[in-house]
Amino acid sequence: MELRKKVSNLLDNVKPIAKPSLKVAVVTTFAVSPFLFSKSSITLANDSKLSMAKSRFGVASKKNMRRITNSNSQIYLPSKLNTAYISEKVHPFPANHFPSITNFNSEDVTLNASAIIIDGKPVAYVRNREAAEQVVRKLELNFVTENELNKFDAMKSSLMDSFSPLKENESRLLDIHLSKNIVLQEANVSPDKIMPIENAVALLLKGANQEIKYRVQEGDVLGRIANNNGLKLAELLKLNPQLTEKSLLMPGQEITITEPEPYVEVIVEKEVSQKETIPYSEEVINDPNLVKGESRVSQQGLAGVESVSYYETIENGKTVMKELTKKVILGQPIKQIVIKGSKVAPSRGEGIFIWPADGGYISSQMGYRWGRLHKGIDIARPSDYTIKAADNGIVISAGWDGSYGNKIVIDHQNGFQTVYAHLSSIRVGVGETVQEGSPIGIMGETGDATGIHLHFEVYKNGILKNPLQYLRR
Ligand SMILES: [Zn+2]
Repeated sequence: MELRKKVSNLLDNVKPIAKPSLKVAVVTTFAVSPFLFSKSSITLANDSKLSMAKSRFGVASKKNMRRITNSNSQIYLPSKLNTAYISEKVHPFPANHFPSITNFNSEDVTLNASAIIIDGKPVAYVRNREAAEQVVRKLELNFVTENELNKFDAMKSSLMDSFSPLKENESRLLDIHLSKNIVLQEANVSPDKIMPIENAVALLLKGANQEIKYRVQEGDVLGRIANNNGLKLAELLKLNPQLTEKSLLMPGQEITITEPEPYVEVIVEKEVSQKETIPYSEEVINDPNLVKGESRVSQQGLAGVESVSYYETIENGKTVMKELTKKVILGQPIKQIVIKGSKVAPSRGEGIFIWPADGGYISSQMGYRWGRLHKGIDIARPSDYTIKAADNGIVISAGWDGSYGNKIVIDHQNGFQTVYAHLSSIRVGVGETVQEGSPIGIMGETGDATGIHLHFEVYKNGILKNPLQYLRR
């Protein structure tokens, strides 16, 4: 009964403020309001969630006036009216209207303040109504920028240009509303109950702890459950009188914990248009002529580009719905083609060596020189400094070795070993299987060497041999 009366007062108050051009929308909008008001705020909150998806782009929800300023208390409407901000007539603060407030006034000294009432319960007090309005504004500004909010307000009041298609990489706030009914109302409270604006915003976002059930997992201990949920062990035990510090937990057992639940959620609906890349796919082609482990890209992949538009619903910063509305492919992706070797590489040599360089000549034979044994042949002036494995094998040593400089030793798994010395750089590692003719390093003059050349030695069963005996040339 009270409510009915309030609704008619409210309608009386509101109509004259509406712009004539808004007539249709306003009528539609307020025709809905008695229905909203006739329900308790709890149902309202539920309704608002249910109706979100349906009412998203209804004219009423978009064009209705978000704020209609006014007197002593305002209501932030959820649901179809979304963020409409409607004034109430000044009521001589009736004790029975919001009983929870008056119950609160037990202090001797009280100050006039503004109560932020959610679902009929005062959750915070700030110094005056202006501060309370700022709390709501700041709450919204946690999730949208000032600029977005201003544009949104302008769009609503102008009715012009509100649906021009979005340009690329543009986004537009379509709606912002609260999940619950917030009422701002004058109240007399003790001074210590009045909090700064920022604290009130933080409180609304953080909310109150709700008790929920937690199912014990394998390996859980009380201390960790408490810690993971921001509780002290003593607090957890208080919530669960049946437990003591020494209680043994069983997996699957249910215990009570608390979890903060925001007092109110800011629901933001956005329209977004942006360029996105389309990843390219990769195709692998096996090549039996290429040694396993080797691969090469035969066609370089290239990402595509598309222009997408979507509607997004975000609750307290978390995307809860994303609906693609348009997708235009601006450039198709090009797939990457990779050739992968499938030939299993033998590591055993044949016992005959190929010339380990690209051309060149023997600048020094094996034998005694100036009273010392020259243990291999020197190959100089190749047409290319790449050094090749003389036969299939496994690298057993690769690195610096005194007067040899950078040196590689290949074991051909058949009793033969070959040595390559004075390299300027080494391209293989110990344990690596190499194929006859595969590049293993670059010719240089490291160690005890004069001029760029390759020093090449051959051993058979550990005994030094003259390479010329085994070189196929
Ligand atoms: Zn030499």
